[in-house]
Parts: sequence; structure tokens; C-alpha cells
Amino acid sequence: MSLKKRGSDFLQFNKTHDIEDLKPSMIGQEVICCGWIEDMRKLGKMTFLTVRDVTGIAQVIVKEEAQKYLEELARQCVVRIKGKVQETKAKDFVFEINAQSIELLAKAIHPLPIDPIGRLESNIDNRLNARALDLRNQKTAAIFKIRHHALASIRKSLAGKKFIEITTPKIIGSASEGGANLFSLDYFGKQAYLAQSPQLYKEQMTIGLERVFEISTFYRAEKSHTVRHLSEFTSVDIEAAFMDYTDVMNILESLIVNVYNDVSANCKKEQEELEIKIDAPSSPFECITYAQALELLQKHDVKLNFGDDLQDAHLRILGKYRSGFYFIVDWPLKLKPFYIHEKDDDPTLSKSFDLQYGYLELSSGGTRLHNPEKIKSRLKEQGLDPSKFADHLRAFEWGMPPHAGWGLGLDRLMATITKIDNIREVVLYPRDSERLAP
Ligand code: ATP
Ligand code: MN
Repeated sequence: MSLKKRGSDFLQFNKTHDIEDLKPSMIGQEVICCGWIEDMRKLGKMTFLTVRDVTGIAQVIVKEEAQKYLEELARQCVVRIKGKVQETKAKDFVFEINAQSIELLAKAIHPLPIDPIGRLESNIDNRLNARALDLRNQKTAAIFKIRHHALASIRKSLAGKKFIEITTPKIIGSASEGGANLFSLDYFGKQAYLAQSPQLYKEQMTIGLERVFEISTFYRAEKSHTVRHLSEFTSVDIEAAFMDYTDVMNILESLIVNVYNDVSANCKKEQEELEIKIDAPSSPFECITYAQALELLQKHDVKLNFGDDLQDAHLRILGKYRSGFYFIVDWPLKLKPFYIHEKDDDPTLSKSFDLQYGYLELSSGGTRLHNPEKIKSRLKEQGLDPSKFADHLRAFEWGMPPHAGWGLGLDRLMATITKIDNIREVVLYPRDSERLAP
């Protein structure tokens, strides 16, 4: 097949314009647009349609001579419209299309399971059950357009700092960070697991690639049903040789500020749709120590001892008094995974941090151990069997540079940017203990 033929195949619908590319300067011009009918109103001998495609919405006027095309049409049907651009008296439009013909490309049943225009509110379960249709709701579409821009911004930020994008296995033979909340599966008669994070692989990649990042889904059998946990979530991970935790905190901070700036500039319509204003946070982000967090909690009658983890209820209290982005540093070493480096001046503390937004943890990171003997003893301390980590530990004998990194929950970041509480709203097909379909 020649290229020319392929080109004309692609144009089999003879579509001339995306709706956003129609301009008042085109008045008098014949155009062909494809989309779906959002609304239909009959007024005397004329019918007014609003037709939407992913880029925008247009008013289509159907005069008497074209009425015959309307017989089979209903809201949400997919159509191809051929017509002339003309001036309009409508308040919401600067021009309209005077339809010469309307072709039905796909029917939509009635009633639909949800009202995609959002005039009738549907609960989240009904919307998730009809997710594809829910994307015709402009608020929902706005979330995923913002997500697209956020991802583009993250890739741009990291590539700009010479990070190389990698993809690590999601099917793994041994538990990478201990056994809890791992999904296991049968792999040709052997036990395998779904990866919880790219931790060990990304560390190994610093041997040859120095600075790496990955944006992928990871899996955790989270039994608790919360608005911030899913069984399948998207993580943005980095690992960088010749950096420590403070270096990678700076990278995280500038990445977040860039995402806000990029999304704010590139998603004007989407912000209007969601009725939000996305403003970049001021930096540097505030930084508190774990000990200061305990003090703050003590002031609010919560008594915790050094070494106690901050549970949901504690983070909620912290979030009441600390809004916006802030880091928590100087965590007790024993609360952190085996691969985290202790502080040089106080080995009970760790070279690690969490990035918070109010009560919500967005990211954890730190300087990694790179002495295999130390890693082995930390594994044992945490009740893990070093022999299960033999493949990983071998890599530390091949010239593993000192390194640091973090993992950032993309879905939690998206919920933060869009000012939405429930993480399920910002994931197309969320997976939790009760939801495996669609
Ligand atoms: P939490 O304590 O909130 O369950 P965590 O400390 O177990 O999180 P990490 O292992 O530090 O999570 O993972 C790094 C980041 O990945 C988290 O800060 C969070 O943003 C995100 N994340 C982790 N688990 C989930 C999950 N089940 N659903 C959504 N995002 C998650
Ligand atoms: Mn964490």
C-alpha cells in the first residue's frame, strides 16, 4: 500500500477540522466535523444541536431541509456533520455550523447508565462502572487531560536533569521489600509476585546509567479501604548516583513546582471546568523533623514515643496544622526500609524524608546503603533473609556508586493538584479490595 493510499484511508471520514480549529474567519466555508451530540433542542422548524469532540464544542443548526437527518439521532450519538460555518445569534458561541447533512456513525442507547453531562449527579461507583462514558463528562475529561500534562512535565523535568527513563519488571521472583501486602501469582508452576516498587532494580541501574527514572504501575495488596490507597497505583521513581537525600529532595521540590507551573499554564480550560485555580507552591518547602512532628502532636494531646510510626490519625492532626507541601526528615532508622542509610552523627536516625501535602504522604526517599555487609545486617534486623536478596547483593560487588532516590505517588499528586480527596477520581480504572472490574 502506498503512503498516499494510507493517507486517504486515514481520512476516510473526510473530517476537515477538530472543533477547536474552527474559527470565525471561516464563515462561509464548508467543513466536516465528527463528534457526539451533547444536546438537542427543537425550536419551531429548526433544531439546535451541540456537538462535541475531544477538543471543543460547536453549535449546529439543522434547518427544515435537513430535518430528515434527525430521525434516528439522540443525545450522545456519534455523528459526522457536513455544513457551512455561519454567524450565530447564540450567546455562548461566536459562529455555528449550518448542517447540510448529518450522518449517524454510532448509536447511544437510552437511558444511558449515567448522565455524562453531569446534570444528574451519579455516585462514583456508577461512574466507575461506566468509566468510558464518564470521560464525556468534561470535569472527568479535564482530570485526565491534566494528568497527561503532568506526566509530560515530569518527563521534561527529569530528562532535563539527565535522568534516563527505564522500565523494570513487574513480575518478580522474590519479595523486594519484605513480604507484607504483596500479590502472589502462579508463574508456570513457580511462585511469583507483582512488584511493589522498582526499588532494587532502580538502585542497580545506577551502576551503568547513573541517573534513572521510571513511571509505572506497581501493586500492593492494601487491605485497608482508604481514599489514598489503591492495589494498583502509578509511581514516579528516581534513583541517582553521586547524590544524597538532600540532593534528591531538591529535585523533587523543583519537579513539583514545575508540574504546577506547566499544568497551570497548559490547562486553562480544564481548570475552569473543575472550578479550580492551580497555583505553584512557594519553595523551598518547609522542613520539619520527626521529633518536631512528635512535639506538635504532644501539644495536641497525642503522646508518641521516639520510634513510633505516624499513623493515619496522627497525620490527620499534623495536616490540620501544616497545610501545603512540607518535608518530614530525621526519621528513626528502624521505621525505614532496610536499604536506607543511617545518619553519620546519629545512627538511630536515617538519611531519609517523606514529602507531605497536609495529611497526605506523597513521596518517601533517602540516601541508600551501598555497603553490602551493612545491607545484610539490616535485612536480618528486619527479619528478612539475606539469601533471598542474593541477586541484588551481588550487584553491590560490581562497583555500585553511592546513590539516593525517591518514589512519588502520581495518583496522590494528581489528587492534590486537582484538589480532589478520593484517589479513585484520578485513576481511570481504579483497583481496590472491592473493585476488579471494569
Ligand atoms: P502509606 O504509608 O501512605 O501507605 P507508604 O509509605 O507505604 O505509603 P511508600 O512505600 O513510601 O508508601 O511508596 C512511595 C509513595 O507511593 C507513597 O508516598 C505514595 O505516594 C505512593 N503509594 C504507596 N502505596 C500506595 C497505594 N497503595 N496507593 C496509592 N499510592 C501509593
Ligand atoms: Mn512512605
